[in-house]
Amino acid sequence: MAARIPIIAGNWKMNLSPDQARELSAGLAREHTRPGTVEVFIFPPAPYLSIVAESTRASAIRFGAQNIYPEPKGAFTGETSLSMVSGLGGQLALVGHSERRHQFGETDSQAARKVAATVQAELTAVLCVGETLEQREAGQTESIVTDQIESGLREIGAHHLDQVVLAYEPVWAIGTGKTATPDQAQAVHHLSRALLRKQYGEAAASSMRILYGGSVTPDTISGLLARPDIDGALVGGASLTLDSFASIIQNSGFHS
Ligand code: PEP
Repeated sequence: MAARIPIIAGNWKMNLSPDQARELSAGLAREHTRPGTVEVFIFPPAPYLSIVAESTRASAIRFGAQNIYPEPKGAFTGETSLSMVSGLGGQLALVGHSERRHQFGETDSQAARKVAATVQAELTAVLCVGETLEQREAGQTESIVTDQIESGLREIGAHHLDQVVLAYEPVWAIGTGKTATPDQAQAVHHLSRALLRKQYGEAAASSMRILYGGSVTPDTISGLLARPDIDGALVGGASLTLDSFASIIQNSGFHS
């Protein structure tokens, strides 16, 4: 089995000024000029996609949208299409982030449509799943994560799975400073991979990258990555400064 190259992905959410976005992405591009032992993804706010496109042009960084609308064009005020992202050089779309699900009411079926539209547009979807604290305490973690993965992938064929990255992001760990322990995260990553194995077979399951997200810092990344089913991280707060994001990349084993 080929080793899975880890991914460190930064989700800037609705943060940074245009100048800060330019400075941060240019700084990252300087540090990550060539493909190394880690892939680096950035998800800037949509208005900054072209800034990031320009700053990262000569680097190995891939970028994309924090959210997309699955229709190609039309009267969808405020939305961003996949061709707008790819037209600027973006290769990725984050789908089903917990803030989309919980603050904007995004459903599993909307997430499934977005994953399908993303892979059809030949981009890579980073599909986020994860339970709330209430669901974890009620012993529902496995069923919630299973449902979210099954429904998120429902509209795509197995031949498109190589255009999907999963991100397990327990809602109680996002932006709270409470990272899941490596054991807690590994347990959910392991069951997610077992589900993929059951549905799609060994090859698809063993090549799927499954990221962990939830208050990851330069200090917690290596313990998480040491677990066999954790293939990288989706990072919010700690992706907003060059120092902390570059340290997370560095501590993941990147050498250019
Ligand atoms: C996220 O936004 O996906 C995230 C994990 O945020 P944070 O790292 O701030 O918890």
